[in-house]
Amino acid sequence: MDDPLAWLDDTAQARQAAGLRRVLAPRDVVEPLVDLASNDYLGLARDARVIEGAVVATRTWGAGSTGSRLVTGTTRLHAELEEALAAFVGTAGALVFSSGYTANLGAVTALSGRGAVVVSDVAAHASLVDAARLSRARVVVARCSAPDEVDRHLAAAPETRRLVVTDGVDSVDGGLAPLAALHAVCRARGAVLLVDDAHGLGVRGPGGAGLVAEAGLAGEPDVVTTATLSKSLGSQGGVVLGSAAVIAHLVDAARAFIFDTGLAPGSVGAALTALGVLRDEPERVAALHRAAAAVAASARSAAPELGVADPTAAMVPVVLGEPDLAVAARDACAAAGLRAGCFRPPSVPEGTSRLRLTARADLSADDLALVDRVLGEVLPAVLGRTGVSAG
Ligand code: PMP
Repeated sequence: MDDPLAWLDDTAQARQAAGLRRVLAPRDVVEPLVDLASNDYLGLARDARVIEGAVVATRTWGAGSTGSRLVTGTTRLHAELEEALAAFVGTAGALVFSSGYTANLGAVTALSGRGAVVVSDVAAHASLVDAARLSRARVVVARCSAPDEVDRHLAAAPETRRLVVTDGVDSVDGGLAPLAALHAVCRARGAVLLVDDAHGLGVRGPGGAGLVAEAGLAGEPDVVTTATLSKSLGSQGGVVLGSAAVIAHLVDAARAFIFDTGLAPGSVGAALTALGVLRDEPERVAALHRAAAAVAASARSAAPELGVADPTAAMVPVVLGEPDLAVAARDACAAAGLRAGCFRPPSVPEGTSRLRLTARADLSADDLALVDRVLGEVLPAVLGRTGVSAG
């Protein structure tokens, strides 16, 4: 009998040849590298108070939530976190999911479905793309950076149930969606606007309340916000924020909520504590932006020809071109003491493989000096070694 998985070898070899093989690199407890690859934007994942929040919640409520949210998986702590998140962002309600991925699956599928149209941003996060496909709605891909384009699609859509989905802060390059203009289009055309604020929560808006709050839209009944608890809040889990009617509908209809075990109490406790820290220490947000500006300045002075833009959020993209160039830069950074994120297709379009450097609020002056030195060595070397001219 032929091996039914023989094709895996061919696939692996093709990926290897294209420079697209992925490998898992387990971290050690004591990280020898300065980390510019994680999403721990506010440095809260290892904050002693946040860890204690997880420990106390685990001791009190147990290691697991013991069931789906509709059966035994909703503790008082889950309800407390939902209230705190809604108050922080400025919505009537919130519903916590086991991840940002499932939050998007649940919200998009429950708010669209067969007979609906979903206008999905061309750069929407994979979880929004998967959600739109799963919804069985008609999916139109458009540029949400051009609200006129979205308007044209909505004007031409025969469906009455309409949903527009976009990331608030682009997860790869930090581009900001023009939310006020998009909302005006959605309102005029009877569409709901769903914004994934995964990279905006804790980063943009008043006190880190997010890009939707910054645009003054959090309390609007036709706006739904999703986010992860795993980036600026340093925990795990996801959340959908919106009107009481939307939240009640998700409890009834979101399959990714109903058929999934509730978020573990430790993650709930950590997120709740992190939210309190963020409320008490909003200067963390400003520290993050200062660090991002410093990282971008270092990349710019190391390789002016790459045209590294001023950061809008935590991420600083350094676009190098072909995948092997980005991998070489990542590996050279690691050898010199800097952990850099490396994005290749399909995460980014062909020809735009890059380093994605993410700043953190807790980077020290020494860390930033190392970043400056390493980028100053690595970027010119990598660009010069291959003779690739960037542009
Ligand atoms: N949306 C965006 C924009 C993200 O970047 C991510 C995480 N990579 C997610 C959703 C998924 O969140 P989680 O990791 O909590 O599943």
